[in-house]
Amino acid sequence: MAKVLCVLYDDPTDGYPTTYARDDLPAIGRYPGGQTAPTPEAIDFTPGHLLGSVSGELGLRSFLEKAGHTLVVTSDKDGDGSVFDRELPDADVVISQPFWPAYLTAERIAAAGNLKLAVTAGIGSDHVDLDAAIAHGVTVAAVTYCNSISVAEHVVMMTLSLVRNYLPSHQVVLDGGWNIGDCVARSYDLEGMHVGTVAAGRIGLAVLRRLAPFDVKLHYTDRHRLPEAVERELGLVFHASAAEMVPHCDVVTVNAPLHPETEGLFGDELLATMKRGAYLINTARAKIVDGDAVERALCSGQLAGYAGDVWYPQPAPADHPWRTMPHHGMTPHISGSCLSAQARYAAGTREILEAWLAGRPIRDEYLIVDGGALAGTGAHSYSVTK
Ligand code: NDP
Repeated sequence: MAKVLCVLYDDPTDGYPTTYARDDLPAIGRYPGGQTAPTPEAIDFTPGHLLGSVSGELGLRSFLEKAGHTLVVTSDKDGDGSVFDRELPDADVVISQPFWPAYLTAERIAAAGNLKLAVTAGIGSDHVDLDAAIAHGVTVAAVTYCNSISVAEHVVMMTLSLVRNYLPSHQVVLDGGWNIGDCVARSYDLEGMHVGTVAAGRIGLAVLRRLAPFDVKLHYTDRHRLPEAVERELGLVFHASAAEMVPHCDVVTVNAPLHPETEGLFGDELLATMKRGAYLINTARAKIVDGDAVERALCSGQLAGYAGDVWYPQPAPADHPWRTMPHHGMTPHISGSCLSAQARYAAGTREILEAWLAGRPIRDEYLIVDGGALAGTGAHSYSVTK
């Protein structure tokens, strides 16, 4: 019987919801490109309910306990003596989320003698030391595509919100004011701007597709080129590297995984090559940018705005400088955890567990590490240091 240790974010401050703003979710059976949405044998939760917080338990408890497995759910993941550290040594499976990451460092993996499977209930497995997972034969899996469109929508929202100066203008309303000049002195149209994405995978391409109707000029860089037909359809300009692309862009969005190739990519040097007054949107991972360099670029005016939902570490401390830097539109890490996405990543986590517990192969598209090597989606999107 397996012990499943699941780390989730806290319930809402006023308690686990008993009612919801909407009664249902649109049914999404397939993603762009044809991959099917999760196909577990069954689910024990109501799509549209809060599943990603501690009391939501990803809807896994009755499924696991009926089969004789143990489920431990906690949000207590950091600091000496955390529940996560206490429960880890005999856990067979760890489930964590990028929004509230239980960092599976090399030390923790070494201390987790039973660990065989690390599941990301979401996308982005950089909170797992992939080198250590490979060395210890731990399988790493994620629910690929579950929240890619959710993030793409967040990127579009943040792009418009920065360029049009939405948040400060909304603040004027909240403050009882009406100074139009205050609102519009930093407000522009997106139309005609050059927008570039670093990476055009599931999220990056979805962002490009969603922005195309705004009559912008679209650019991208990626390790692999998109099919010619897609480039033609969207009028994309390909650049061999981020360094080649960013000087041409008014808006840059980062949609690449965090791995050795992308860590620290946006430092002082690259930021200095961007157009003065460019906007940078990063919903991928915070460590792809140098946090201090971003703050400097906002203060100097080199960047007109920065937005995203990824921080390091997470949760960000109350005095994190990004909370108070000028012209930012940050949210906590929420883009991939709306209720719509939660229904998909809870179902996908269940699908992965059903397969693994029954000794069946996990879908290739969900695999990041398997059999002591990068595998499936991981082999395509990640690199490791050894
Ligand atoms: P995909 O794997 O579909 O796409 C990632 C793309 O990045 C691939 O096209 C890959 O290239 C490309 N890439 C990898 N390394 C580089 C590089 N050095 N330079 C340029 N491109 C590179 O992933 P998704 O689009 O689904 O997700 C992207 C990232 O977004 C995730 O890794 C995660 O970190 C983040 N994310 C954030 C969420 C949030 O809630 N904020 C939720 C979900 C994801 P190729 O395959 O061509 O080699």
